[in-house]
Amino acid sequence: MSGPQAGAGAGGTGQRCPGCAQVAAALEGRDPSLIAVLPHAVLVLGPHQAMPGYSVLWSRAHCEELHRLPQADWDGLMGDLRRASAAVEAATACHKLNIISLGNVVRHGHLHLYPRRADDPARLRHPYVHEGRFGDPGDPAQRRHWIQAIRGAL
Ligand SMILES: [Zn+2]
Repeated sequence: MSGPQAGAGAGGTGQRCPGCAQVAAALEGRDPSLIAVLPHAVLVLGPHQAMPGYSVLWSRAHCEELHRLPQADWDGLMGDLRRASAAVEAATACHKLNIISLGNVVRHGHLHLYPRRADDPARLRHPYVHEGRFGDPGDPAQRRHWIQAIRGAL
């Protein structure tokens, strides 16, 4: 990890940051949704599976606006994003991959990777059209399947 705000608990606000807690859990092997620890990010299966294979890429460095990352951390995160995106696309054989960074609820820099299926009648709309199913973590066996499939495609 690099950068002045790297690491859970570092960088002033990190102690109470849910994103730093997410990263720490992944690095310490406490997150059953972990797909992979990458050089500048951790990739986890999303908390819901409204779009099968939905994953989240968390910056290992704490930042609230991605463009404020030091250049090396930005470059590293984009490299990890490319790798994670290719793996999710390959594992899910998706029609289109939607990549979104919002940070309204959890400000710590992260990107949502939503695989869109060709048979989704709402495939031309944004992923939040499926928000009504965001509370459902999905079947445990299916979650294990996606974790292994995406990990295998990295
Ligand atoms: Zn954080």
